[in-house]
Parts: sequence; C-alpha cells; structure tokens
Amino acid sequence: MTVKRDMPIILDHYIDGRYVQSASQETFASINPARGTIHATVALGGQEEIDLAAGAAQAAFQSGVWSKKSMAERCAVLGRVADLLLERLDEFAELETIDNGKPITETSQGDIPRSAQNFRFFSQYAQSFVEECYTTNQVERHIAIREPIGVCGLITPWNLPLYLATWKIAPALAMGNSIVLKPAEATPATATRLASLLRDAGVPDGVFNVVNGLGAGSAGEALTRHPLVRSISFTGETATGRAIMRTAADSLKKLSFELGGKGANIIFADADLNEAIPTAVRAAFRNQGQICLAGSRLFVERKIYKQVVDAMVEHAKNIRVGDPLAPDTQMGALVTEEHLQKVMSYLDLAKRDGRILCGGYRIKDLEPGLFLSPSIVVDLAPDSRFMLEEIFGPTLPILPFDTEEEALQLANSTPYGLSASVWSQDIDRIERMTSGIKAGMIWVNTWFARDLRTPFGGQKDSGLGREGGRYSLEFFSEAKTISYKYRA
Ligand code: NAD
Repeated sequence: MTVKRDMPIILDHYIDGRYVQSASQETFASINPARGTIHATVALGGQEEIDLAAGAAQAAFQSGVWSKKSMAERCAVLGRVADLLLERLDEFAELETIDNGKPITETSQGDIPRSAQNFRFFSQYAQSFVEECYTTNQVERHIAIREPIGVCGLITPWNLPLYLATWKIAPALAMGNSIVLKPAEATPATATRLASLLRDAGVPDGVFNVVNGLGAGSAGEALTRHPLVRSISFTGETATGRAIMRTAADSLKKLSFELGGKGANIIFADADLNEAIPTAVRAAFRNQGQICLAGSRLFVERKIYKQVVDAMVEHAKNIRVGDPLAPDTQMGALVTEEHLQKVMSYLDLAKRDGRILCGGYRIKDLEPGLFLSPSIVVDLAPDSRFMLEEIFGPTLPILPFDTEEEALQLANSTPYGLSASVWSQDIDRIERMTSGIKAGMIWVNTWFARDLRTPFGGQKDSGLGREGGRYSLEFFSEAKTISYKYRA
C-alpha cells in the first residue's frame, strides 16, 4: 500500500499528568485504513517510557492521592468521566472511526456510548461492592476487606479500542489503583485522548498513564516484565496471552486474559428465522467480523439449511460497504494491511477447500482503503483450518447438521470457548445445548446481549478469569482477612 500523508495529529505518551515524547524522539505512523493515509504520528515508547510511567504510577499510589480517597469520592470522579465523554461523543466517535475503519454509526451509537457507560456503571456498582464478615462464634469474628493492588498494567487490542480499554480502566480506578495503559499500536488515538479527559474529571497526576508503542520487544513486553507492575489485564490474541504469561511469571503478576474466539451460532429448524437470520448476519459481519464474540461459524439444521444459506447470501450481498464516515455505511475497512492479508489468505483456503457463495475479494474501487466484500463459504470439512482457526474478518462458513449431538460436537470442536448462540423454541433442547457447549457466554435466541454485572470471559484457550461487575472489582483488588478475638 502506498501511504500518503494527511495532516497527522500527534499522539504522545501521557505520563505523570503530561503529554511527553519518547526519550529517543522515535515515532511510528498510524494509518487511516479507509483511505490509506497517515492520520497520526505516534510516540514509540519502550523500556524507558514504561519505567517512567510505572514510577509515576507507583509514586501516585503510595501518596494516597487516589488510593486513599473514599470509594464515594472516586466514584464521583468516574461519573464525571462518563459525562465528559458523552459531551465529546462526536469527537471521540470520529477519531475512533478514522483510526480503526469501523462505521461511524457503530462508534457513535455503540463504542463511545458504551465507553461512557463503562465509567457510569462502575461509578454506581462499585459503591455497593460488599466486603465479607463472618461472626464465627461468640468470641471470634473474621472480616475480609479488599485493598487496591497498586500499579496495574492494562494492554488492549484494536478491534474495540476505547470500549475495551475503559472496561478495564473504570474498575481499576474504582478500586483505587494506579494504571499504565498500553493501547494497541493500530488504534492508539482515543485512549491517548482519554488521558486529558480523565485529568479534567479529577483523576490526579500519575494515577493514569498511557505509553504508546508495540508489543513484543517493545512497550507491551516491558510493561509485563516491570517489577513495579503487580497485575496485567490483557485483551488480545491467545498466542499473545501465552507470551505475556511467560514474561510475567518471573515477577508473579496477577493475570486476567480475554483472548480469541470462534463462536458457534446454531440454528435449529424450530427457530424463529425472522429473528435468527438477520441476527446471524450481524453476528458475523458487525465491525467487519472483527469481534471476539462474533458468530463466526454458522451451523444450521439440515431441514432448513438451503433456506438459511440462500437468505444469508442475500443479506450479505446487500451490506453497504464503504466510507466509514458516511452515515449509511454498514461495513467499513479492515484495520491494517497486514490483517487484511491474513484474512485474504484464509479466503484462498476457502477457495481450495470449499465454495465461496458471495464476496471474498478486496474491493478494488475503494483501494488503497482496506475493504473486503463480505463472504459466505460452504462445503468446508468440519476439521478444516477455516472452521477451526480465528480469522477475525468478514467471512462466514456455514455447515449443516442433523442431530443435537452433532451440533454440540461441531460447536466444541475448536480450542476456543468464548461464546455461542443457540436458536430454538424447545426449552429442553436449549437446556441440553447450553449445558453441553463449552463456552463462557451463551446466548439463547439472541446475540451480544449483555448485563454488565454478569461474568464476561472465556473457557479453554479463550481466557483466564472473568471481567464484569464484581469479577472486575475482585481482579483489581487484593483480599485481606483480618480475624478478631473479643470478649462479649
Ligand atoms: P494482539 O494480541 O496482537 O495485541 C493486543 C495487544 O497486545 C496490543 O496492544 C499489542 O501491542 C500487545 N502485545 C502484543 N504482543 C505482546 C507481548 N509479547 N507482550 C505484551 N504485549 C503485547 O491482539 P489484536 O490483534 O490487537 O486483537 C485481536 C485479538 O483480540 C483477537 O484474537 C480477538 O479475539 C481478541 N479479543 C478478545 C476479546 C475478549 O474479550 N475475549 C475482545 C476483543 C478482542
């Protein structure tokens, strides 16, 4: 791709309450994937910047300027962050769309409002977080309190940049921690901007820090190795999770991993197809298919297989792909050239091992933008790479099944276990399917529905631990048991 230069914005690190360049002055380019132009010049951080940020975070933590505030005071600040983010919704939505390539309707109606909601939710929920107390007998009582951990390292991916960063920042701040965030190198813009918004809302200097840079051998790895950083909350690829676990082992950090997925979407013949089919289209193609919770494998009972495949193809052909900033665009650009090439390599496999019924090519008219036409693939073997590996793009394989047992076997056939959907009107079958599927989250006759109090995360290679509600608050705190003996 030939890269042209727009009027790039500057994205520095944010350390100890100030935007700063790298000591080396090195930078890297952030590309607008819809236009192929450089839209931001980003400071390239490494060990030195991580040292500075971790030091500032530790000093702020020890000063008590945030960690010793009352929960009510901290939550009031988080509430103000939500207000400020909503006031600046248009600016953040546009920035996210330019950085990531996703449609403006998704950032303005989905990602950014949800980012504000992450702060609003934890500002309210954390205030009713219950600590434990057991009166064992007439002379003995045991209480278990939660204390902040200290410096928390957060590492986030590019597919839902601000949404997933704030999902970690809000509970970490609520519990009184200090933070060093390393956003994805492909989408650093909104997290970097968020830093000044947190300051305006009242987060003291040093409590929230952002270091921009790459992963392995760069800022990301330095963060996972740093002795002052006591925990790492990571969302990204399974292979990266493994690498982080190895690096973090030496300093025995507390770890939370939200990793890859290959969600099964299972439609039985008794399902309400008027709901199931349009939802299956959204589950496969929303965010260009770049969602860990995507319904990225569709299994359909053979009796209705042809009907569903025909309808899915019809829907996929009608998806409006184009300029992500246009309000009627339904599908935007893929995030990077490298990622587009990866998805296209899987489409080559699909041509060889199966049959592509629609789409599956790069849209020439929109080049140098990174646009793919949404594709539906059939006739693949259940154990083909296309069916088992995470592709993370706008391409959906569909396979028929005859029995519940077969559907279960197909659903559980990948190393992943993040999410699944089951469509049926039969409550007994739903019970059998939901108990048989090995996944952290299962939807019945819906997809993507969430209550932020429920545990969020994956089984098998999809993760370690859970986020959401008390699960996040527990991760971002240490339990301490204090036992009393007293005279009644
Ligand atoms: P990625 O693992 O390549 O990168 C994620 C982050 O990790 C980036 O900030 C990157 O710089 C950093 N990183 C990379 N190598 C590192 C290392 N060795 N040490 C420390 N940090 C390192 O993931 P991605 O491509 O940005 O995101 C897509 C992946 O994220 C997909 O697999 C998707 O399923 C997953 N994801 C999971 C969830 C979930 O909740 N389970 C949500 C969204 C995305």
